[in-house]
Amino acid sequence: MIRYALACSKGHTFDSWFQNSAVYDKQAKRGLVECPVCGDSKIEKALMAPTLSGTKKRGRPSMPAAIPVPSEAPVAMPEAPAPVAMMSPQEREFRTKLKELRDHLTKNAENVGGKFPEEARKMHYGEIEHRSIYGEASPQEAKELIEEGIEVHPLPVLPEDRN
Ligand SMILES: [Zn+2]
Repeated sequence: MIRYALACSKGHTFDSWFQNSAVYDKQAKRGLVECPVCGDSKIEKALMAPTLSGTKKRGRPSMPAAIPVPSEAPVAMPEAPAPVAMMSPQEREFRTKLKELRDHLTKNAENVGGKFPEEARKMHYGEIEHRSIYGEASPQEAKELIEEGIEVHPLPVLPEDRN
């Protein structure tokens, strides 16, 4: 069945059902289609509104079998670049050990600051008693101490201390 929106010559509009478009054409030609308002048989299609009947009786028309999804479509956005400064577990462990060593030294030794070369020398030559000290020495001073046979060790410097 096809529904046509029809209009008579006087401008009345109405809907009418026909088996198919050929049936409508025949009936309209023969003047069998009349305006329900005024009985005018000069009928024209006002608006093509073909609505297939019967679909409601048979239930809803079946849905499209599947909506095609492009298989190559990216499933997820690529992850943002990872931070380049991430530390490996080994690096973290190393730093922890350095920190432990330094903490141990600074807890058990006396900070003599810039007098370190002088104090180290005094201890080495027996002027004062041996004790654990730490302090500052320029690379040149440290080199001289080592050349004199005074064992000095650089304190591990942790990256966060350099700021
Ligand atoms: Zn009419």
